[in-house]
Amino acid sequence: MMSTLAIRRFDANEADFNTKMDQILSWESVSDDRVNQVVKEVVMDVRQRGNQALMDYTAKFDQLTLTDQAQLEIPQARLQQALADLPAEQREALELSAKRVEAYHLRQKSDSWSYEEADGTMLGQQVTPLDRVGLYVPGGKAAYPSSVVMNAVPAKVAGVKELIMVVPTPRGEVNELVLAAAAICGVDRVFCVGGAQAVAALAYGTETIPAVDKIVGPGNIYVATAKRMVFGTVGIDMIAGPSEILVVCDGETDPDWIAMDLFSQAEHDEDAQSILVTPDAAFADKVVASMTRLLETMPRKAIIRTALENRGAVITVKDMEQAIEMINLIAPEHLELSVADPKAMLPKIRHAGAIFMGRYTAEALGDYCAGPNHVLPTSRTARFSSPLGVYDFQKRSSLIMCSPDGADTLGRTAAIMADGEGLQAHAASARYRLRK
Ligand code: NAD
Repeated sequence: MMSTLAIRRFDANEADFNTKMDQILSWESVSDDRVNQVVKEVVMDVRQRGNQALMDYTAKFDQLTLTDQAQLEIPQARLQQALADLPAEQREALELSAKRVEAYHLRQKSDSWSYEEADGTMLGQQVTPLDRVGLYVPGGKAAYPSSVVMNAVPAKVAGVKELIMVVPTPRGEVNELVLAAAAICGVDRVFCVGGAQAVAALAYGTETIPAVDKIVGPGNIYVATAKRMVFGTVGIDMIAGPSEILVVCDGETDPDWIAMDLFSQAEHDEDAQSILVTPDAAFADKVVASMTRLLETMPRKAIIRTALENRGAVITVKDMEQAIEMINLIAPEHLELSVADPKAMLPKIRHAGAIFMGRYTAEALGDYCAGPNHVLPTSRTARFSSPLGVYDFQKRSSLIMCSPDGADTLGRTAAIMADGEGLQAHAASARYRLRK
């Protein structure tokens, strides 16, 4: 029997709308004291006891008993074998995905630049890739070969010298697609560890796992908490919360398409968020009817229902202008503009991780193979952050090269400012180089 889907229905013009929105939008990803405590212990223990602690936690949390430290690593030959054994269709799909993601990310690469002033002083910026990056690939409840592609390819495009990947293999179950993706993307070394212990190993290094300069990649709350804890010792990409989609529709798209697009994020996990915004109340009814009917056909229907009833919403607005206000308020990870003229809306959209434009652009295409990165800012952080990109794997050094004339002009200004700050050595160092 079909049970009605109890998704929230809001009207953006009702009096208590803002309070209701606050309730569904608030999400603190790393708020749990118990998780904080567990992660702190794990991180400190791995830092002190290295491989042995890593192996102990892998036995405890992943039910995988390793008898030798060498077993922590999945050898390069094993990655190549996974690739060689892959069915042709899957290999082609992975290779095409990696190729498209590479083509897109090549456009993000920045180059060093410099310019010369009239007195011969040169100023500039030197761009260098990071030396060694750690890539966390989740593997607790599901395997994510697409995450290997999305994290490894921009690092490679940036020119990162060494890419170290960790992936949990619960009970020793290795995912062949994940290994094959690592081979395709040129990952240098792969270790079969996960959770907070893997993040600690990447941050501090162990006898076997080299310490990296930055850790990227999504993961559950243990992974996110550990990344936040080791930040400073290493760089991190972002703290990712549960997946989100906001679909804005003018009421002219097939309601089944919209229902399935909302499901596509809801099926990730119970805390995922799917929201529909439309000015057409009758269309909203149709989408809810489609969701109720289609839900029964979904293997992950329990997760989808919980997500939609927990944090989902169908919102009616008075017009498209109000829909745009809604977009900027929600600042979604994924925004689908299922409308006739999405380009016309773009200039007014300020906050969204990725924008999928037009009725034919299903968000799912972006998850796998369109080209842009699928690691995106969640939990309203699109207000101040961007998708994972080549720029996350490049850093910049400022360049200054003074001519004798430049040293004279700049030296006078610097000395006056240094005097004002009471820093005599600064002032003297500048004055030594003035023309006599
Ligand atoms: P995971 O690899 O993130 O976590 C598994 C690890 O969690 C285990 O190895 C274990 O060490 C640790 N763990 C589990 N229970 C623990 C406990 N009680 N105490 C201490 N440690 C414990 O895999 P997952 O759990 O499947 O989570 C993956 C997450 O990544 C999901 O939330 C998924 O939605 C997200 N994800 C996001 C993206 C994205 O691009 N944003 C892509 C893929 C996956």
